[in-house]
Amino acid sequence: MKIKINKSANFSKKTRVLRDIKYLIIHYTGMQSARVSMKRLKNPNSKVSCHYFINRNGDIYKMIDENKVAWHAGKSRWKNIRNLNKHSIGIEIQNKGHSINYQNFPKKQISSLITLIKSLLKKYKIKKNNVLGHSDIAPLRKKDPGEKFPWNFLSLKGAAIWYPKFKLKKKEIKSEAKRKMFFKNVHKIGYRFFNLSQKSKRDRMIVMAFQRRFLPKEVNGKITDKTLKISQLLA
Ligand SMILES: [Zn+2]
Repeated sequence: MKIKINKSANFSKKTRVLRDIKYLIIHYTGMQSARVSMKRLKNPNSKVSCHYFINRNGDIYKMIDENKVAWHAGKSRWKNIRNLNKHSIGIEIQNKGHSINYQNFPKKQISSLITLIKSLLKKYKIKKNNVLGHSDIAPLRKKDPGEKFPWNFLSLKGAAIWYPKFKLKKKEIKSEAKRKMFFKNVHKIGYRFFNLSQKSKRDRMIVMAFQRRFLPKEVNGKITDKTLKISQLLA
């Protein structure tokens, strides 16, 4: 794996111990081009950064050392962790994103990403289920890497988790019970920012974040039977 260097100074002063690194967070840049993205990830005024950046040709750039805390996750939660920057390595991959022109991820880019993820999993003894998307840990604010990101393919290569194949049985569950079951499951998986016992406008955002990750062809914000079943299989 060839890694180029392009240093950013956007990191916290305090060095972390390497056993703090428990998560890998995948992002898309949401910017016009790799050049513009890297410029922003280095600009001290932007206050954002990542450890690794991968362009659409699959070139990997190291921007920040792994023992430094980069600023990529923002306000975020997963399981009992708040603000994941301290506990994660942030990987940005170039894509214009939903608000400019959401693109497919090129093979070369994904294959470099998989190589990088697998080496980091091994190096820090990180579990596969701790490879997350930005939208998993900030579902009310973020969509990246989004429904075009090939999580299933990553799982086939040992770089992420997925669920086993299943057949759906027809059953009638009342929508209130469905809601309870679904949110109990996703809570167990790690999702936060919702209230188990209180319906709210946030529910839909959580369902969509979950679907972007695990049911990318049906991102509709509804707890369908399939959505519920997948949450069960993963929980
Ligand atoms: Zn992001």
